[in-house]
Amino acid sequence: MITAVQCSCGAVEIQLTGKPVFQYYCHCDDCQSVHGKAYPVSLYPAPAISVVRGDTDAFTLRTAPRTKCKQCGTYLFAEVAGFAGVNADLLPEGMFNPAFHIQCRYAAVPIQDDLPHYKGTPARFRGSDELMQW
Ligand SMILES: [Zn+2]
Ligand SMILES: [Zn+2]
Repeated sequence: MITAVQCSCGAVEIQLTGKPVFQYYCHCDDCQSVHGKAYPVSLYPAPAISVVRGDTDAFTLRTAPRTKCKQCGTYLFAEVAGFAGVNADLLPEGMFNPAFHIQCRYAAVPIQDDLPHYKGTPARFRGSDELMQW
């Protein structure tokens, strides 16, 4: 399965091979500063992602290196320990089904949905599994 994803101006196209490993929202201070909101992540093994068209720029604010379109500045993906967190806002309709929220201790306001709200990260990300008590 190949999914094609474009930036806002269409200059850059990336291809995602296979299915995401996880889909979730990241509320960390790094993501919020860059995106102005929680970052909707569709996580793929790094080799599953390739830029097939257009010029990109790399940018690191605090921790995660992020790749964006050189022309329109749309953030395409962030790199996290061998994985690429694709900007799920760019996915085709219906392809983002988040399972949980991470780094909720940075959330500006309590999150109102039925998903788990991890204070840091879940155990499967080597975190503590601790949930927020809003
Ligand atoms: Zn663009
Ligand atoms: Zn983050």
